Amino acid sequence: MTESVRDVIIIGGGPAGYTAALYAARANLEPLVIEGFAWGGQLMITSDVENYPGYPEGVLGPEMMNDFRRQAERFGSEFLTDDVTEVDFSEYPLRVSVGDDDYLAKSVIVATGANARQLGLDSERTLQGRGVSYCAVCDAAFFRERQVVVVGGGDSAMEEGIFLTKFATKVTIVHRREDFRASPIMLDRARANDKIEFLTPYVVEEALGDEGKLTGVRVAHADTGETQELPADGLFVAIGHDPNTKLFDGQLDMDEAGYLLTKPGSTATNVGGVFAAGDVVDHTYRQAITAAGTGTMAALDAERWLSQREGHPKVALTAPRPEAAEV
Ligand code: NAP
Repeated sequence: MTESVRDVIIIGGGPAGYTAALYAARANLEPLVIEGFAWGGQLMITSDVENYPGYPEGVLGPEMMNDFRRQAERFGSEFLTDDVTEVDFSEYPLRVSVGDDDYLAKSVIVATGANARQLGLDSERTLQGRGVSYCAVCDAAFFRERQVVVVGGGDSAMEEGIFLTKFATKVTIVHRREDFRASPIMLDRARANDKIEFLTPYVVEEALGDEGKLTGVRVAHADTGETQELPADGLFVAIGHDPNTKLFDGQLDMDEAGYLLTKPGSTATNVGGVFAAGDVVDHTYRQAITAAGTGTMAALDAERWLSQREGHPKVALTAPRPEAAEV
């Protein structure tokens, strides 16, 4: 099935995608949001969100995403709760496919996000938002005067460990090797912090819980297999993130870690009419508020790009692809 050509298709249903949809809908672009089967993004595995402005009492992650979605819907965004399986940005109009169904658009906003890598334990999944966290900036304040474990040996683990010492009484960084991937300066800073202890080479074998709350972590020595149980109220998994960009391989420019590249000061990608926002571009800030901010930018960039083109003698949609415009 192929339908008519839309002004804008938004791929992704997290803070960036829904905010782009809100702005695009209010600009009368009647966006189609292909939000993913598991819409809502990383906030769906978060419990309390206390750092999003406008919610002075805090809000549950899933509830906040529902609010974002409803607000975009109010102005006429259309949603497709399914996963995009293929895109073709080599021709114009741009094509986005969901299985056998093709959707055509004059512009596309990519807001597919990134996922925090997980350890892959059943107990980790059960205790997500109940002691298991993937974001110290978001959740550290819940661990005032508590003990926490951080897993990982990269800069994120060091940074999260150091940040957590502002609140926790003790932070144990568990890493599977004796050598660290973290930069020497970050490692030295963590080592110099009295509240941080290192446990190497150990792997996390189980997140231990009682009555639905994390109570500790069982770790095993990477070589001997000897196990120990560490009491902990929080387990921060800081083993990296993966941007969701496989769909765009060979079509959109990416850095070596797979994050999409945009032109400085804009959300424009290397392909004319394709914009990118949120964590799929950002491996630095990774906050709902920054994703929402770049989602806004992408909608404004797309709107401007479309109006510049429509202001000119109309280019037939079957004509060769237009140049990437400066936005
Ligand atoms: P990273 O550098 O890829 O490090 C991931 C760490 O997690 C590695 O030590 C890895 O162990 C470990 N790990 C991976 N999978 C694991 C598993 N299943 N179980 C246990 N451990 C596992 O990721 P990152 O720390 O998130 O950093 C990503 C990039 O952002 C880096 O370029 C980093 O420099 C940058 N960054 C910079 C800053 C800063 O400058 N302030 C802060 C954060 C991040 P192995 O080493 O054994 O593979």
